[in-house]
Amino acid sequence: MSSETIFTKIINREIPADIIYEDENTLAFKDINPQAPFHVLIIPKKAIATINEINSENSHLVGNLYVVAAKLAKQFNFSEDGYRVVMNCNEHGGQTVYHIHLHMLAGKEMGWPPY
Ligand code: AMP
Repeated sequence: MSSETIFTKIINREIPADIIYEDENTLAFKDINPQAPFHVLIIPKKAIATINEINSENSHLVGNLYVVAAKLAKQFNFSEDGYRVVMNCNEHGGQTVYHIHLHMLAGKEMGWPPY
């Protein structure tokens, strides 16, 4: 099964995205269908399809997603008020793009539970 998704195309600049952060391993860009005033997707450049494929070899790439979330929170001034980060897995989790991504939502008070 190919690990190519629309996010690979964004990484390779084959389709446009509003990229707000990039480093060697990680990319962050605005979600095309925002669910909060600030809704960004933080992804590893290496394609990992779902949380089920996270292991001790690639877990540092997942850790980096949280490091970037904390950086963005500081940069955009959400650290104190707070924000939500969430990663969906497979159909029941609501995953639609099979390249793991951390949703970072901020700029309003979130509800709980999330359904
Ligand atoms: P999930 O449902 O957790 O897999 O999240 C996938 C997210 O990707 C959704 O919130 C979509 O709005 C978002 N999305 C899909 N295509 C694009 C795109 N081309 N640029 C930015 N965000 C996208």
